[in-house]
Amino acid sequence: MNFHTYTLHNFRDITQMQKVSEEIKFNIEVVGHVLPFKTNNYVIDNLIDWDNYENEPIYNLNFPRKGMLKPEHFNTIAKLLKSGAKKTEIKTAANEIRLTLNPQPDGQLEHNVPELNGVKLTGIQHKYRETMLFFPTQGQTCHAYCTFCFRWPQFVGMGELKFAMKQSDLMIEYLKQHPDITDILFTGGDPLVMKTKVLESYINPLLEADLPNLKTIRIGTKALAFCPQRFLTNPDGDDLLRLFEKVNNSKKILAIMAHFSHPKELETDDVQKAIKKIRDSGAQIRSQSPVLRNINADAEIWKKMWRKQVDLGIIPYYMFIARDTGAQHYFGIPLVKAWEIFKDAYSQVSGICRTVRGPSMSTDPGKIVISGISYLKDTKLIALKFIQGRNPGWIGRPFFAEYNDKAIWLGDLKPAFGKKEFFYEQEFKELFEH
Ligand SMILES: *Cc1c(COP(=O)(O)O)cnc(C)c1O
Ligand code: SF4
Repeated sequence: MNFHTYTLHNFRDITQMQKVSEEIKFNIEVVGHVLPFKTNNYVIDNLIDWDNYENEPIYNLNFPRKGMLKPEHFNTIAKLLKSGAKKTEIKTAANEIRLTLNPQPDGQLEHNVPELNGVKLTGIQHKYRETMLFFPTQGQTCHAYCTFCFRWPQFVGMGELKFAMKQSDLMIEYLKQHPDITDILFTGGDPLVMKTKVLESYINPLLEADLPNLKTIRIGTKALAFCPQRFLTNPDGDDLLRLFEKVNNSKKILAIMAHFSHPKELETDDVQKAIKKIRDSGAQIRSQSPVLRNINADAEIWKKMWRKQVDLGIIPYYMFIARDTGAQHYFGIPLVKAWEIFKDAYSQVSGICRTVRGPSMSTDPGKIVISGISYLKDTKLIALKFIQGRNPGWIGRPFFAEYNDKAIWLGDLKPAFGKKEFFYEQEFKELFEH
């Protein structure tokens, strides 16, 4: 199968688009001018039920919908398009809207980019003691774009907001200076859009440097769901699997952090073949996804997905909450609802599936799990817990917020018992006082 991608410029060529009304195509155009849009023929032909596209989770995962923009923003762009406005005029309006959508949430730019001997390493994020994120320059795009993605500014050419980095020497030097780091996570975009040769040019030096602290090389990718042929028929698919083998033979672990948002993505022959090949290379596969309205906000879906993953040899890892950026108003669900979905699904699977943690918010201070709803005497509370923190000392300690069934993010929550701040807030502020 040849691989084709479709974007704003050619999506009308997709054969199945004949089933979609003109009005909805126009909506795609309006929203696609602000938020990035890309899909491909594997997704279109194998994952979407076009007779039911209005309620189709994978359609919603790739194709922009009207509700993803606030009405005033939608109308601004719609008017410009209808009046035949100049490209530059539309672009200016789109950029203004983008800046209102919290393009870099949770301190990613100000708080996570480290320095080495006084130089900012813009392609690295080091937030949690043991795990460093690396953004290889050539991996800052994806095989298709998820509509909910919090990395969306990287795909729309907002240059100054982009992370990426070429040199692996700096990365290795940084790893040497930080012996607490055990894991490096290649991320993007999707690092597996890179040719195997390019990926090798980063991974081989890491293996040659023989760093005793480095134990796990993780690759965060949606390629299994959106382009399983990357591991199969692609000209360098076999080389990729050999590279995984090489890592695993060098006494390090290669872990694929696979993004799966719906059990449908696990059902094709191609994805199942690719999973088998990756496992045969000795690599681990772990899975993660946010819980998203209009896509997977249903316990049945998660139960089915975790069971299917475990059947295929994948280890369920994280359930996230949709982040406070982009179209969060469209995809976000109340924290209480997310917890109910998690609890209902988690309680119906065997212990083998219960490696999953969540539902978790990736906030500036750390990853915060909603542990549950609880009562103290007659007061209804939301119980929370860090599972990752800028200060490792925060991890594991239960804390409480006032019950709020509308809250969709940490900022909507108030500390319980009339307290002014959550227990970590003073220390969090002090971390960034210079
Ligand atoms: C989730 C995350 C990690 C990885 O954390 P683990 O608990 O090791 O999986 C690392 N850095 C950032 C910024 C993250 O959000
Ligand atoms: S694959 Fe990951 S990085 Fe790429 S669009 Fe989807 S969520 Fe974003």
